Amino acid sequence: MRVLMIAPPGAGKGTQGARIAAHFGVPHLATGDLLRRHVARGTPLGRTVHAYLDRGGLVPDQLMQDLVRKALADATAGGGGYVLDGYPRNPAQAWAAYQIASSIGATAQVALHLRTDDDEVVRRLLTRAGIEHRSDDTEPVIRRRLALYHEVTEPILEWYDRRGILLSVDGMPDADRVTAAVIPALEARRARHKARPGPVPELLIAA
Ligand code: ADP
Repeated sequence: MRVLMIAPPGAGKGTQGARIAAHFGVPHLATGDLLRRHVARGTPLGRTVHAYLDRGGLVPDQLMQDLVRKALADATAGGGGYVLDGYPRNPAQAWAAYQIASSIGATAQVALHLRTDDDEVVRRLLTRAGIEHRSDDTEPVIRRRLALYHEVTEPILEWYDRRGILLSVDGMPDADRVTAAVIPALEARRARHKARPGPVPELLIAA
């Protein structure tokens, strides 16, 4: 199973991504977690990106591309799948994700979108702020992350829809109910994909 997760901050990408990965026995590659680990370890990449994370901005595309290329190559080395959570987040990243994945014969079968309401995600993130103390969970930074999501991330959903791999699920119910909706829908997509492989790249470009 090869899944991309595209959803606003606070939609439950992390929770659902981990459950989906466990269910299908594939690695959960969360770009935010990978970046925060670099920051915590004080690596050169971590030192470069920490200000973007703190401000709720997007890390430059080229850095993300290098990070994702390596993570996907490692994850699929044994021929397995992945849940890529938090990438792509803009049109350039969507194209890069496609190119990276096709170069290793592992393009996504599903782009999973969790639909949410802005007020609810702000409420969830402010609640989480009291528990996890993430540096970007303050109200102004949350608003900035949400605005960026609407501006540059949401438009890529249409591309996945045209490719025929978009799966959009209501992310508002509690986490267990979302999981109960997502897993069977992914199973159904996987069965469909086995029966009929995805469109050829030429058609994608034409779209
Ligand atoms: P959220 O979705 O709640 O914002 P994440 O953990 O997915 O949380 O991401 C946290 C931060 O990591 C983002 O605000 C951004 O700074 C950085 N980041 C994660 N993924 C990407 C990406 N694909 N492109 C650019 N920056 C990213």
